[in-house]
Amino acid sequence: MSAVLLDGEAVAKKIKDGLRKEIEGFKASGKELKLVAVQVGENAASRVYVNQQKKACEEIGVKYELKELPAVTTEKGLLDFIEGLNNDAAVTGIILQMPLPKEINPRNIQVKISPKKDVEGLNPYNMGLLVYGKQVVAPCTAMGAVELLKSSGVELKGKEVVIIGHSEIVGKPILLLMLQSLTESPTPTVCHIATKDTPSHTKKADIVFVAVGRPGLVRAEMLKPGAIVIDIGINRVPVLDANGAQVMDEKTGRPKMKTVGDVDFEKAKKVCGMISPVPGGVGPLTVTMLIKNTIECSKWQNI
Ligand code: NAD
Repeated sequence: MSAVLLDGEAVAKKIKDGLRKEIEGFKASGKELKLVAVQVGENAASRVYVNQQKKACEEIGVKYELKELPAVTTEKGLLDFIEGLNNDAAVTGIILQMPLPKEINPRNIQVKISPKKDVEGLNPYNMGLLVYGKQVVAPCTAMGAVELLKSSGVELKGKEVVIIGHSEIVGKPILLLMLQSLTESPTPTVCHIATKDTPSHTKKADIVFVAVGRPGLVRAEMLKPGAIVIDIGINRVPVLDANGAQVMDEKTGRPKMKTVGDVDFEKAKKVCGMISPVPGGVGPLTVTMLIKNTIECSKWQNI
């Protein structure tokens, strides 16, 4: 038996179609939404995200602007820049591209982004609303992972959920999103780096989220037959041939690489009921949630 694939591209497309209609409604009433991404210094990984964000915004009809600040920018300089964006009525949302230079503490900046322009859902005020179950926005990857789970149609009430990873941007907000309903919530458990025996938890889980950044961390034998697995991890690993030798890229002469998640996908899909692939699972939903948050921020600003 092979698991049903949870197709993030298809789920994202459906959500984007709805968002595009909302944006058209804004435009008809003379309002344009604009996202501003702030990048300090140059970073190849950040450049990839910027391009993805720009493409998704353009597809849906949100203006996207990248502000590039020099690598020598100080924390005070960045805070002043953010303050300017907070006060600019033409800016709907602010994205802080990571990583920042090591002299700048990201938390000191995130706390200064106006909660009403916090499209990444990382400001402590918005995190607090999430604890109360009254959030307007939430961290995009956590929202995307939960949307992908919901697309499976599973009823959450009474289910055992295991979340592996407890970061502020993924694991912890997934936990809070799993606890939104007073009477319909599943029972979530969080495993992390200090958990003694993660398999003892996952073996009992109806639903497993994993966001660690370690390829092969979740093995087939750790899963309950029929479980739903949402793989959030992103890892670059070398491509191997049938004998386990590295395949070389003919053009570059370097080892060929591919992107995988945290789950041993090929073996796990024979055990679980549904599984999200990497790439093509949570990834497309993350950027879609960024635009959803932008729309919610715009509505909040206009209350
Ligand atoms: P992080 O480094 O902030 O957190 C990693 C978490 O893994 C920590 O909470 C840690 O306790 C836990 N952990 C580490 N080793 C463990 C182990 N052996 N067993 C159990 N838990 C362990 O990472 P993050 O920012 O939360 O990202 C996690 C993964 O998700 C990364 O691969 C990242 O690239 C990916 N990610 C994907 C998206 C997306 O859009 N799909 C977005 C953000 C992050």
